[in-house]
Amino acid sequence: MPRRTRRPRLVAAVVGIVLAVVAVSASPVGAVGNGNGNGGSGPSIVRGPDDVLLPVVGTFAGSRVVSSTCGREVAFEGGTPVDGPVDVVLDPGHGGPETGSVGVNGLVERDLNLLVAVRTKAALEELGHTVVLTRDRDLHMPIRQRAAIVRSLEPRAFVSIHHNGGAVKRSDTPGTEAFHQVDDDGSRRLAGLLFEEVQASLSGYWVPWVRTYHQGVSARLRPPRTDTYGVLRLTRGIPAAIVEGLYMSNPPEAELIALPEVQEVEARAIASAIDRFLSTDDPGSGFKDPFFDPHTTGTGTARGCVDRTYSPSTTIATGFTDEEHASLEATARRMGRSVEWLLKFGVYTLKFLGDLPGAEPVMALADDQRPDAYGPEAVAVEWDQAEQVVLVRMAEAYGLTRTEVQKLGAVLMVFLANLPPTPAEAEPEAGTSD
Ligand SMILES: [Zn+2]
Repeated sequence: MPRRTRRPRLVAAVVGIVLAVVAVSASPVGAVGNGNGNGGSGPSIVRGPDDVLLPVVGTFAGSRVVSSTCGREVAFEGGTPVDGPVDVVLDPGHGGPETGSVGVNGLVERDLNLLVAVRTKAALEELGHTVVLTRDRDLHMPIRQRAAIVRSLEPRAFVSIHHNGGAVKRSDTPGTEAFHQVDDDGSRRLAGLLFEEVQASLSGYWVPWVRTYHQGVSARLRPPRTDTYGVLRLTRGIPAAIVEGLYMSNPPEAELIALPEVQEVEARAIASAIDRFLSTDDPGSGFKDPFFDPHTTGTGTARGCVDRTYSPSTTIATGFTDEEHASLEATARRMGRSVEWLLKFGVYTLKFLGDLPGAEPVMALADDQRPDAYGPEAVAVEWDQAEQVVLVRMAEAYGLTRTEVQKLGAVLMVFLANLPPTPAEAEPEAGTSD
């Protein structure tokens, strides 16, 4: 086969891809990379550095992609698989710069929630249950990552542990609140047992308690009828509840819960509620009607969350002919960028086109469409742990190696940058080589 036929055929392939992905289709949106490449094999969650939990998103082009502590997709090969399912997942609310409530005595909800969660875990393990914490240290972790951990572990019960702020209305009883998933009997019963146990345990102390109208058990909703709290909304199908033992904003209550023995009492109450949920049909108590209040504190997003480095950057080299390299350089120069940047941008453009509304699902390229990624002029591109996800997802989508998909992106960029005035000029060339 004459060597010069390769290039027109490749251009034709890229034209076909561009036309395919930008064509508005009546079929459902098939965005690139939405499929889970896990194939049902391999662990669904692993423990990474410092024992942080990293749900596995999938394996793409041979590379494992996990959801980072900040809830972003990163490449990560190592880690220890976590054997699920577990009985209970406990979530110490807040973390890192998201402090939650702060008592006048300096007690920070972020830290208190963790102290109580660790004690609750120990108490549940004494009762024979397997328990995993979403975080076992001070970590900035968005809600969606906490929910992803829960979904990966598929526990029989999930409880997010909090302590409240804001109430000023005096009360004879602790202002304990529990929230459940709307229209879910299991979640509602779990919340009812948490309220019952935790309020009873704190009632053994006399302090001038405060409460709000929401003392008791309810579902907090936003229209049309969905849970306001992300840890409940994003874990549907798993019985989940939030418990707010008392009000840290009330100085006497903050003093009380600062005592380790009171933290232990509350933790044992939470453990007892979960144990009763798992081993009895007890209904719980304190139920109120669901109420609509879509407002949240605005925390729990990934904003400002900084991931640690889980994987080193990787460098992928792709070869070009002298002629190809010359046009790459010319295109990069016109765009005021480097050739390496152009290759990376090409891969991102493949993703962008595939993600367009109406884009047809990307198909693996046929053998004669695979770009020849070897040549005398090598270009090496460095990809960090988050960028690698785009690279391997695109490689998987097109059925290519990482080296080849860099080539495809490069050809696409040169092609787009040199689009002729009319498509007709490009068309005849494609069919002439044979
Ligand atoms: Zn909180």
